[in-house]
Amino acid sequence: MAKKRTPKYVYFFGGKRAEGKADMKALLGGKGANLAEMVNIGLPVPAGFTITTEVCTYYYQHNHSYPKELKKQVLDALKKIEKEMAAQFGNPQNPLLVSVRSGARASMPGMMDTILNLGLNDSTVQGLISKTKNPRFAYDSYRRFVAMYGDVVLGLKPKDKHDHDPFEVILDRKKQQAGVTKDTELNADHLKELVSEYKAEIKRITGHDFPEDPMEQLWGAIGAVFGSWMNERAIVYRKLNNIPESWGTAVNVQSMVFGNMGDDSGTGVAFTRDPATGENVFYGEYLFNAQGEDVVAGIRTPLPIKDLQKDNPQVYKQLVKIRSILEKHYKEMMDIEFTIQQGKLWMLQCRVGKRTGFAAIKMAVDMVKEKLISKEEALLRIEPNQLNQLLRPIFDLNQKRSAIENGRLLAKGLNAGPGAASGKIAFSAQDAEEMASKGEKVILVRIETSPEDIKGMNAAEGILTARGGMTSHAALVARQMGKVCVAGCGALNIDYKNGLMKVEGKDVTIKEGDYISIDGTTGEVILGQLETKPSEVIQVLITKELKPEDSEIFQTYNSLMKWADQYKTLGVRTNADQPDQAANAIAFGAEGIGLCRTEHMFFGGDRILHVREMILSESEEERKNALDKLLPYQRADFEGIFEVMAGKPVTIRTLDPPLHEFLPHEEHEIQQVAEELNMPIDKIKEKIESLKEFNPMLGFRGCRLGISYPEITQMQARAIFEAAANVAQKGIKVKPEIMIPLVGHVNELKLQEKIVRKVAEEVFNEKGIKIPYLLGTMIELPRAAVTADEIATVAEFFSFGTNDLTQTVFGLSRDDAGKFLPKYVEREILPKDPFESLDTTGVGKLVELGTKLGRQTRENLKVGICGEHGGDPDSIDFCHKVGMNYVSCSPFRVPIARLAAARAALVNGSPKTKKSSKKVTKKKK
Ligand code: PEP
Ligand code: MG
Repeated sequence: MAKKRTPKYVYFFGGKRAEGKADMKALLGGKGANLAEMVNIGLPVPAGFTITTEVCTYYYQHNHSYPKELKKQVLDALKKIEKEMAAQFGNPQNPLLVSVRSGARASMPGMMDTILNLGLNDSTVQGLISKTKNPRFAYDSYRRFVAMYGDVVLGLKPKDKHDHDPFEVILDRKKQQAGVTKDTELNADHLKELVSEYKAEIKRITGHDFPEDPMEQLWGAIGAVFGSWMNERAIVYRKLNNIPESWGTAVNVQSMVFGNMGDDSGTGVAFTRDPATGENVFYGEYLFNAQGEDVVAGIRTPLPIKDLQKDNPQVYKQLVKIRSILEKHYKEMMDIEFTIQQGKLWMLQCRVGKRTGFAAIKMAVDMVKEKLISKEEALLRIEPNQLNQLLRPIFDLNQKRSAIENGRLLAKGLNAGPGAASGKIAFSAQDAEEMASKGEKVILVRIETSPEDIKGMNAAEGILTARGGMTSHAALVARQMGKVCVAGCGALNIDYKNGLMKVEGKDVTIKEGDYISIDGTTGEVILGQLETKPSEVIQVLITKELKPEDSEIFQTYNSLMKWADQYKTLGVRTNADQPDQAANAIAFGAEGIGLCRTEHMFFGGDRILHVREMILSESEEERKNALDKLLPYQRADFEGIFEVMAGKPVTIRTLDPPLHEFLPHEEHEIQQVAEELNMPIDKIKEKIESLKEFNPMLGFRGCRLGISYPEITQMQARAIFEAAANVAQKGIKVKPEIMIPLVGHVNELKLQEKIVRKVAEEVFNEKGIKIPYLLGTMIELPRAAVTADEIATVAEFFSFGTNDLTQTVFGLSRDDAGKFLPKYVEREILPKDPFESLDTTGVGKLVELGTKLGRQTRENLKVGICGEHGGDPDSIDFCHKVGMNYVSCSPFRVPIARLAAARAALVNGSPKTKKSSKKVTKKKK
């Protein structure tokens, strides 16, 4: 019988050999896999081992216990570390100290727990003293360890902003006793006393002694790190970032190196490119004589990495070399953590760096130009929604300039998350959440942020911190959320207790609720509210204030969009009802109009009066009269759109909404209409009453209107064809597509078709011109989807109206769902709001079936989508897979849809069902 293999739960790394590698993230977590990879590519990494994510899963499935094989594997790996680092765990003469850190598959900065300096006790601290000849350093490490262990493993961590950290209280007391203000001014004796005082506090609160046995410490720390996978902030973070709970975290145990051994030591974090702007420069910061978290926690504001060039040229040179090795190896912008221990450089972490959408786009485009990655890789690296950041508002420069001239520039911090934001100040995350829930725009202002603040950060427009650098928690998280952020604004003096803030050198007191404006691109903090203004891309494309050649940002955007167009096979159209909207959409790259809702045109100018006259008519003749008055307006509207679209297809939908939507409801409005139409007020009220429906969305709307009142469809068809003829006669191409809404039975469509085709013939005869056009329908009722083969005998195209289709498939009112649907998402009853992102397994099945049945009847049936889902990247991926011809979305989402369509083509290849002449594979270059 074959011997059963012992499962492997522990992977060693160190020296020249690692058992893991970069592509083992699922098992080793991001941190563990990359530590192994750095060893494999020859970078200096302190030896350690990774306990796999499988152990985390086991831990939660087995009542917080471990697989039986784990203990021995940990002990064996520990021996290897001891050998590699020439020190022993628990040895009083030559102690090995370790760090114990979490490391999930996806990075979750600061969300889980970490313990440093583990292995110290009253005897090993002596070994550390004799090794370093530095008792102050040894006791500083020891007291930090006891506090961290007390917080993380023994549960003494403060619960919220009002809770005190007991160790901070003792530390403050000690500083007072010693007559100093900074931690660094405490001497070895003070620190030694702190160790005992911390331990006594632990005994007092928990009733137990602090564990002296390093092995007990180690297992306690491993358990705490696994336990932190389920702490509240980690759960919130996972939810916000769609990280499945089932992934679990790995635990990394790694030998300590010390950045706080004196002035030849230090610690730092860096990015191989600027994570805010994407610029190809080495970007980072470091602190001398500091340990681990000091840089990230934002307690001291660190120095820029370029200063290291003069402070320690050798280490700087080595880091620059590592920067280039890492970029060439990973072909990515990497985020690194390093420590210099008595002049020797150690790499503690590398991972793909978080970045703003802005930077993501610039780096991807630059890396293609540097031949580091292909265009395909570049397209796949950018989340379509990140494009929003290129389209984001900036401050109106003149207004900002005058605010600055008027002395409203309060201070300057670091430009940690680009964009412009203006809002009311909240000094706590809780307040930010509350204010935002009341619909207010909020800027969260903190001394520094911590992971507990993420909900408030999410609710705020922007984040401003007094401390911390570009890699502080606030900066990292804000960038990831795509929030505007100014960090490390040292001039701010924030007083949480009194809800106010003063600014160094300024005679102002700013209170909670006051307006403030922050520019995350320049780092400026300005008092008061400032108007925002369109981004450079918008200024080039839409407002035309800027020339393309004058905007580097636009050029980057443009390169990316061009590549997207080379790969996408889906068309991207827009939902637009007015010529200016259509023009914007074209500037963003729309290839046609996928939905022109004619009813939106009914509200402009005098039109609404004639619409009301039409609705209030008693006879067909009266109605026709009113419609005759509407005709010239509709015709002019369509002419405007056809002219702008200049030969691109324009899908115009006949009237859809329930008629009561056009009638007045307030007494004074009714009175006004009565006067304008010279009608008795009671008659109007009667009509309003008679049009009331229990279920208007399932009532007298869509094609049902045109079936009861054929003259409405007649007028609209006439307006469309007359406009098309007029524009065509000016020499401008036109491509009308007439779309009938809310069809459930083919016979409904047949009736409407007859009207439209008859009017078309009449107009073509009158105008002496024939214009090719298509007649199709929306598929937005389940019956239409399941009888799509019958409907396609008449319809020349389908456009899935997934707003109504979602409503009717779920039996969920799209107007009322807001009251309860968010709870469904919160409780994971539904993975996402189905009105935002297509429910592919339910509604999507009908979309797939409808497309298939339609094409069974009509092989070349053109199929698109015009519900809101047409601008959602996940839904676009689905539309690609079912073989649609195009998606249609709002103008500002067109670039996002183009990128999403390209990614769908790259990920899925050509859809099988679609008769497409475009092949992805042909277009590599
Ligand atoms: C739809 O139902 O998806 C649609 C586009 O139509 P409307 O939103 O106008 O009902
Ligand atoms: Mg609809």
